[in-house]
Amino acid sequence: MLPTDSHTPGLDSRLRGNDNNNVIDRFKALCPIANPSGHEANLRAIIQAELTALGLTDQRVDTIGNLVVRVPGRVGLSPWLLSAHMDSVPVCEGIVPREVPQPDGTLALMPAGETILGADDKAGIACILTLMNTFAQQGFAHNRPLILYFSVQEEIGLQGAKALDWDWVSDATWAWVLDGDGPVGDIYTAGPFQEALKFEVKGKRAHAGICPEQGLNAIRVLAEWLTTCPNGRLSPTGTTNVGKIFGGDATNVVPDWAEALGEARGLTEPELVSIVESIQGARETVAQRYPDAGLTLTHTRKNAGFTVDHTHAEIALLQQVFTTTGIANGCKPMAIGSDAHILNARGLPAVVVGMGFTRSHTRQEILYCEPYRQLTQCMITLLCDSTLP
Ligand SMILES: [Zn+2]
Repeated sequence: MLPTDSHTPGLDSRLRGNDNNNVIDRFKALCPIANPSGHEANLRAIIQAELTALGLTDQRVDTIGNLVVRVPGRVGLSPWLLSAHMDSVPVCEGIVPREVPQPDGTLALMPAGETILGADDKAGIACILTLMNTFAQQGFAHNRPLILYFSVQEEIGLQGAKALDWDWVSDATWAWVLDGDGPVGDIYTAGPFQEALKFEVKGKRAHAGICPEQGLNAIRVLAEWLTTCPNGRLSPTGTTNVGKIFGGDATNVVPDWAEALGEARGLTEPELVSIVESIQGARETVAQRYPDAGLTLTHTRKNAGFTVDHTHAEIALLQQVFTTTGIANGCKPMAIGSDAHILNARGLPAVVVGMGFTRSHTRQEILYCEPYRQLTQCMITLLCDSTLP
């Protein structure tokens, strides 16, 4: 059952037209705060000051910089965890949002300069702060008890979530990660397994002018290996990519070494394993052509994937809120790593919520204001529902 005016009297009317609850303004106010990975302190201080002013003083910061805040709520309900990450990818200094009118008459926000917009993930932070302002006005009497988790260093390998003291959040029974690059209505219930790949080739060094025939060019062997490998999208949920390459020492030397770094993603462990096996297969093919070369593939697990069952009551409830609001919705897998990977790996079911921004990590990043505002309203409704234990 969804909250109505009878069980949360006046809720809707209190939310409308209140500047403290304007999630768009709050997001814009966060835009100028630089927050590269490892340098989240300024943004964290602003979050902490706002939450303290609302009376949320049960705050903890660990040595890496994660912030965990306890939010009181209706008695008898287990706490849910709400999370957003505090860091952004470069360039995230001097961000100025500019309004971009949309064909339907609504507004979107994009960066005015040569930066990202930073909706990934200040959209999540501004949403959570807006929820807390709303709940504080109700004396935290209508909302479910919550644990807010603002992570650091998400963008450089989920480092904050990996370091989080689990005792701080272990009583949470469900987690919403407000960090989804995608339309409002999308609920990302699965995330890929990821493997880091290192390709190494050893050749034979020789003078390029005097005796090139005595050398074995490691760069060329590596190039053959990489072009023999599967590349890009391999299936709806499987991808692989080579992203960095190194090798050689001088133009007049036949290079005896070359390396490349890449990754592979698969929604399931078998899918990922089969991608890695095909790269190994390419290695063997090329190694047979060059018996004097040394070809080594090193692969290490970056993230374990996750899949949350669609039949969870929490998911059904959010879908019901979306549907009631007229928002098309559905569950789907996501293609990227997120703090939800770590939360699920630790046994807390966590799904990622589409926030209404897309093209994150680029200068074309865009946040669609109206869906984002609607999502914030939906989260208020969701968190004020009392039908789940
Ligand atoms: Zn993100």
